[in-house]
Amino acid sequence: MEDLKLRYVPTWCMGCGNYGILNALKKAISQLGVEPDQLALVTGIGCSSKISQYVNTYRIETLHGRSLPVATGVKLANHQLTVIAEGGDGDGMGLGIGHFIHTARRNLDITYIIHNNQIYGLTKGQASPTSDIGAITKFTPAPLGSVEQPINIVQMALQAGATWVGRSTAADPRLADYMVQAVQHKGFAVLDILQPCVSFNHVNTYKWYQERVYRLEEPDYDAADYAQAAAVAGQWGEKIPIGVIYRTERMTLEASLPQLAGKPLAEQPLNAVSIASLMDELA
Ligand code: SF4
Repeated sequence: MEDLKLRYVPTWCMGCGNYGILNALKKAISQLGVEPDQLALVTGIGCSSKISQYVNTYRIETLHGRSLPVATGVKLANHQLTVIAEGGDGDGMGLGIGHFIHTARRNLDITYIIHNNQIYGLTKGQASPTSDIGAITKFTPAPLGSVEQPINIVQMALQAGATWVGRSTAADPRLADYMVQAVQHKGFAVLDILQPCVSFNHVNTYKWYQERVYRLEEPDYDAADYAQAAAVAGQWGEKIPIGVIYRTERMTLEASLPQLAGKPLAEQPLNAVSIASLMDELA
């Protein structure tokens, strides 16, 4: 974990759930034994996306909502890299929702970690696509609060075709373990992490989650059973399921492309392509 440290100090608010997620991420990477030069961490924009500034590996902070297309490019250029995309609920379910759906149906071998605090934190507290109905924020004032149906990330991931879907919380002692399982899964893995924003979301707090979450575990729960997963995915409010919610096998996009069957594109010679004629064509 020491090797993953950088000299930059996180600028998150004191008590923010992002600290727990950062620690769990470093723990998971060190447990996986992935060398820093074999890992690419791709984030969007937002408080949570700053996580790429604090981990000593290949990393890029992209545009708002664009972590997944950039992660897709990284993976296709060098499919031997471990690729983790990360960002918030606003970044992924707002601006990046189209990318989320298409990455899931393509089933690239990427892990997507979402810090879900149900609010836009970096821009100081506007309702996000996962804010509950009635949530009072700067853009959704009292007495009505938010009137829009929130996106349930787990349901959305299942519908879109993600082949591994899990949920945890920023304070869950097993968070790093779920990250390890998500990265080890061959295919698009989505981990929804319930993350308290102590500055702008005073409803969905550590205590609020603690009182509601319950863990799905074998033998009572079978993550390979889609019908069971679909049934629990809709639960929200008084009871919120956490754990590995769904797991299946499907051919990844990388495995289905003959161009990638040999070496990664990044290691293939460029002389097979005439850049000059390509440039002439585009001129
Ligand atoms: Fe964390 Fe919220 Fe502060 Fe952002 S605004 S750093 S999400 S507590």
